[in-house]
Amino acid sequence: MKKWDLLVVGAGPAGLMAAKTAAEKGLNVLVLEKNADFDTVRRACSTQFILDDGYEGEWLQVVGDKLVFTRNQFEVTYKGSLVEVKNKYYHSPKNHVIHFALPEEKPFALKFDKQRLLADLYEECKQAGVCFMLSTRVLNGNDNGEKVELEYVADSVRKTVYGKKLIISEGANANISSIFGLNEGRIHYATAYVMKYFLEGVKGIEPNSWNLYYGMAYHTYSPAIIGPSLYGDNIFEMTLTGDKNVRPTDVFAKLKGKSPISGQLRDAKLVKKSGCTVKGYASMQTPYKQNVIAIGDSAAFVEVEVQGALMCGYRAALAIVDELAGKPGFEEYTKWWRESFEFNGADHLRVSQGYALVPTYTDDELDYLFALTEGKCLEGTYSQYKTPQLIWDEILTHEEQIKAEQPVIYEKIKNINKLTLSDSFAK
Ligand SMILES: Cc1cc2nc3c(=O)[nH]c(=O)nc-3n(C[C@H](O)[C@H](O)[C@H](O)COP(=O)(O)OP(=O)(O)OC[C@H]3O[C@@H](n4cnc5c(N)ncnc54)[C@H](O)[C@@H]3O)c2cc1C
Repeated sequence: MKKWDLLVVGAGPAGLMAAKTAAEKGLNVLVLEKNADFDTVRRACSTQFILDDGYEGEWLQVVGDKLVFTRNQFEVTYKGSLVEVKNKYYHSPKNHVIHFALPEEKPFALKFDKQRLLADLYEECKQAGVCFMLSTRVLNGNDNGEKVELEYVADSVRKTVYGKKLIISEGANANISSIFGLNEGRIHYATAYVMKYFLEGVKGIEPNSWNLYYGMAYHTYSPAIIGPSLYGDNIFEMTLTGDKNVRPTDVFAKLKGKSPISGQLRDAKLVKKSGCTVKGYASMQTPYKQNVIAIGDSAAFVEVEVQGALMCGYRAALAIVDELAGKPGFEEYTKWWRESFEFNGADHLRVSQGYALVPTYTDDELDYLFALTEGKCLEGTYSQYKTPQLIWDEILTHEEQIKAEQPVIYEKIKNINKLTLSDSFAK
């Protein structure tokens, strides 16, 4: 019976980075991945690197063909194309706009080619000696303290494989994590349905800009998002989020048919589309048990983003090396995990202020609030945690005005901290 040093479930950015790093440190590593062409990006993903200083405790920089993780001190080769994102606009139903940008048109995010990133990482893994079992779905597992056992199916045959340590990097749906007891006590907030449409010929969208449309006029609680693609200035990506009651496909039809942006979408041609469901769990505060650690989206509140997944993979491999040497690697990893990702902080529920713009405020109220910020340019940031803080800080510079002109809105603002994430996801 062969016992691998390390088993890895899932060949996303987290699993590949972990496998490559562990193999480079001399471990024998086996990756089990359910898809044969795992680098084909089927799930909707906006594929943007976030350049904010401090985002996820890092400051990612792109230097030549290297992604440089300046604080975690490692590099990843990336040779694919990049498209700069320089402006972010939040639109209200009557098109009052909140504008975010950095000075001197510096980009705050870079669109990238995820397929290329994964394919290159896979090659590097193979060069480092990582073994892969593709078209192999892990079904079950057990950790008896001495060794970890995984049951998998490949070519319709069930088999078992053994390892000293296990990294679960299976993505947001966290099924194998449940089998190893790592989801205990995690709140499941909601399951979102996401569709991404690649559209040619959308009118009135500035290149290199991200546009979020807020209000029930756009038929959904979540903003409709239009941003650049990797395929030139005439093809944009539209991301729509719904749930089992309001499907993104229905939202798309209504947006095209009757919404404030119908005119912009009227002649747009659908080039391709992709979709996914995303389970929004609270993050794992302690992502390990005995010989098993869950990393990347598996352990996160919704998502760590690709750069976060790479960081988790790198750190987890170092943790495994330490554990095998009898050192508390998982404890160290957990300390880093808690400190680095904003969703692990006590005040992460403040994000609800951002998500809760709709339905908390009516479309007319959004027009009023967004108009208050016009003429200002807020700091260019991608962060879904920092953005709502910036918006509310700016709106509240008009607190006395709102109190006098719009007492109903003022009351809602005062109560905003009582909202929960579940309220803002629900519809
Ligand atoms: C709509 C949307 C937009 C996004 N936009 C961005 C963005 O702009 N920028 C960004 O950086 N990130 C973005 N993300 C997030 C990003 O896609 C993830 O954070 C990242 O891919 C997580 O990497 P991971 O390796 O943890 O998991 P994943 O990439 O999900 O990889 C998990 C792997 O595990 C495999 N697997 C699962 N179960 C099993 C099993 N039982 N047996 C074997 N294999 C299994 C899967 O096939 C998959 O290959 C977005 C996500 C969504 C949903």
